[in-house]
Amino acid sequence: SGPLARAESLIAVIPDYPSPGIQFRDITPLLADADAFRAVIDALIAPFAGTFDVVAGVEARGFLLAAAAAIAADTGVVPVRKAGKLPRPAAAVDYALEYGQATIEVHDDLPRGARVLLVDDVLATGGTLAAAHELFTAVGAEVTGTAVLLELEALGGREVLGRVERDIHTVFR
Ligand code: 5GP
Repeated sequence: SGPLARAESLIAVIPDYPSPGIQFRDITPLLADADAFRAVIDALIAPFAGTFDVVAGVEARGFLLAAAAAIAADTGVVPVRKAGKLPRPAAAVDYALEYGQATIEVHDDLPRGARVLLVDDVLATGGTLAAAHELFTAVGAEVTGTAVLLELEALGGREVLGRVERDIHTVFR
């Protein structure tokens, strides 16, 4: 009942993708539904009204949510990109993946003390959002909250991210 419950039902669970044993949550059916998309964007930002100057999204699915959240909140949006994609001076943070490592970057041009709402689609192990948090600290911004569409509680991401972030909000878990 209600648009949020319907939105949750539109998240598909794909067994053994991208590798055996992984149950991938596919949010594309939710994004494609107007009422569901609107409902989750409203729910993502609701606890943070008035606490941020800009929304940041992590490449690539985070971009879709962050851009919509920014329009809904009447702020701008900042892309957190994979290594090597940004044309101007940027900060970089390396972090561990399940196998290997990754690097994310953000342009070093935010106003000092800018209040950032960090957004992503899924909180799994928490490594990505913890790295993103570190990135904004490195460029002199302040992350005032983290909002995620779906938390995979069994993977313990809240604990990892909780070491750097106090205000974690997840719409579905
Ligand atoms: P973490 O760093 O928390 O382990 O992984 C989070 C990142 O991997 C997020 O950027 C998220 O987009 C992606 N991710 C991990 N598992 C899933 C999943 O089941 N579904 C989707 N859509 N993304 C996932």
